[in-house]
Amino acid sequence: MPRGTMPRQPSRSGRQEGARRAKGAPLKGAQAKNAAARPTAGRAPVNAGKAPKAGVLKRKSVSGAEAASRVSTYDPLAPERVRQIIAGLDQLYPDVTCALTHRNAWELLVATILSAQCTDVRVNMVTPVLFEKYPTVQDFAALEPEQLEPDIRSTGFFRNKSKSVVGAARKVVTDFGGNVPQTMEELLSLPGVARKTANVVLGTWFKKNEGIVVDTHVTRISRRLELTKQEDAKKIEEDLMQIIPRQRWTDFSHEVIWHGRKLCVARGPKCADCALEKLCHAADKTWSTVEIHPEARP
Ligand code: SF4
Repeated sequence: MPRGTMPRQPSRSGRQEGARRAKGAPLKGAQAKNAAARPTAGRAPVNAGKAPKAGVLKRKSVSGAEAASRVSTYDPLAPERVRQIIAGLDQLYPDVTCALTHRNAWELLVATILSAQCTDVRVNMVTPVLFEKYPTVQDFAALEPEQLEPDIRSTGFFRNKSKSVVGAARKVVTDFGGNVPQTMEELLSLPGVARKTANVVLGTWFKKNEGIVVDTHVTRISRRLELTKQEDAKKIEEDLMQIIPRQRWTDFSHEVIWHGRKLCVARGPKCADCALEKLCHAADKTWSTVEIHPEARP
């Protein structure tokens, strides 16, 4: 390569040159027809009508008809696209596992209950001390919720969490012989356990793919990647279960959660480092080589 022609590299932080969101430009001709005919139409390319500034972002200019054709054929749920997303996540997070420290199903259940509205880092600071103090589920069942509150106070919402943990312990002891149940229905019968917690325990400890964990990271990233348009966790899970192969449900959950912590963070996602960048049309990307879809919002 001749001297002085080295392409500029993408910035690793902040919004990049060339990442422009098309605003307000009305669709014309064939584009307008497609927009009226398809719910996915109306998405404007990120650099529509503008030449990207940074060399690395240079793209072949497309005619209006070509752009309209791309819009009309784009299917965010196409099996090949979903397969590529899964492959990208596998590449980013090989050998992924649950970030919550645990040694058995009961400890994982408690840690997951404590992780609501709290970081895994904080939970992992609390649980070793907690399980040293109360090593068995019977120890927890013998407590009054108020006795547990000081030990879990730093995880937030400690009064409700204390009631849930002690209530779950009592039911595990009285109804399930001291063993954490292994079915969705039975897990959901425990106080403080909803589908998210049940999916974590079933998938991570019992290796049963009964559902997909939908937390704040999975919600945000699934919407950015246009894998769902829903906002409700149960509906998001239903959408994802339709397109992710069942044997990948648990790994997919953990990979997306890690992705949400490491790269696809809530504010200022690190798109220049993301293996999914070419597949992602999120409206709030910080760097893009592909069209931006205004509807692809977290
Ligand atoms: S490209 Fe950016 S917004 Fe899209 S998945 Fe990657 S980090 Fe998230």
